[in-house]
Amino acid sequence: MKVHNFNAGPSILPKEVVKKAAQSVINFNNSGLSILEISHRSIDFLDIIEKTTFLIKRIMNLDDDYTILFLQGGATLQFSMIPYNLMNQIAGYLDTGFWAYNAIKEAKKFGKVKVLFSGKEKNYTYISTNYHIPCNMDYFHCTSNNTIVGTQMKIFPKTSIPIICDMSSDIFSRTLDFCQFSLIYASAQKNISSAGMTIVIMKKNILGKFRKNIPSYMNYKTHIQNNSILNTPNVFSIYTSMLTLKWIKNQGGLSLIEKKNQKKAKLLYDEIDQNNLFENKIHKNNRSNMNVSFFLKEKNLEKEFNKMWKKENIIGLEGHRYLGGYRASIYNALPLKSVQFLIEIMKEFERKFS
Ligand SMILES: *Cc1c(COP(=O)(O)O)cnc(C)c1O
Repeated sequence: MKVHNFNAGPSILPKEVVKKAAQSVINFNNSGLSILEISHRSIDFLDIIEKTTFLIKRIMNLDDDYTILFLQGGATLQFSMIPYNLMNQIAGYLDTGFWAYNAIKEAKKFGKVKVLFSGKEKNYTYISTNYHIPCNMDYFHCTSNNTIVGTQMKIFPKTSIPIICDMSSDIFSRTLDFCQFSLIYASAQKNISSAGMTIVIMKKNILGKFRKNIPSYMNYKTHIQNNSILNTPNVFSIYTSMLTLKWIKNQGGLSLIEKKNQKKAKLLYDEIDQNNLFENKIHKNNRSNMNVSFFLKEKNLEKEFNKMWKKENIIGLEGHRYLGGYRASIYNALPLKSVQFLIEIMKEFERKFS
């Protein structure tokens, strides 16, 4: 059955990746074992960790100042792990949406948080580039893509303090100078792999600036010393992320992935802008190329529109439960064809109801 998967997360993965992962559940590398049955201390798995690390560094153009960790607890655990390890007194945060706000809430338990910009009053539809970062802060935290409302940071600030970025919903979707970040984290279930694994990419030299009695699992240093196998990691999710990274490399790397993503996003935003029945509320400079949110201008047409797309095997178009409306998540693996199909449906809806 042909379905068009616009789920926000867990979300669509490349067909080849899912196929290969499925085969490995039956018989991993012709070992007679399932990937679910191998030891996380086996040579096979150490090889997976090594290859995945290599691919991330290669794709993001990172040198050996960076270390890569594969952790659990989602991006959510990073909200507290970051201040636990890196906050001495005060950190600066951008409040650009639901997840950014959650990161702030956790950080406040460890020290002072200065919110340098908040988009709250404008319902998070806009991200300022006009804020000042005092240099006495331990770090600056931002969220590159706001998954729920559908905004994306296009410009990152220049500052001498470490920049930390939650890239959960747009990692590996575009080219950036990744060396400007001291720590990048992303939970796997949006653009990389199955849920239950978080990639943390960090400059080693930001650690150890001050001491605290940090519990082992919460301490980046213990994970670095143990090569991400302090405890049993999510073997399957790490393996599947390796497959996705190979797919990204075979697609031509981030610059070609980015071009495809831009094309898909432009088509969809153009349709929303010219269609009489729909609107997008995001400031034009901040529109996300990963999560495209839109609303019906007349709410009473909701039932009809929902009937129409659901009948066509379109999945996951409902907006987030806090926001309503619609959201098309158009991650790396979503084919251009699915975007074109959705646009056809929107056009047909316009013909019938406007
Ligand atoms: C999904 C998401 C999170 C939460 O991830 P979990 O793995 O559920 O903890 C955090 N930040 C952003 C930007 C997200 O999209």
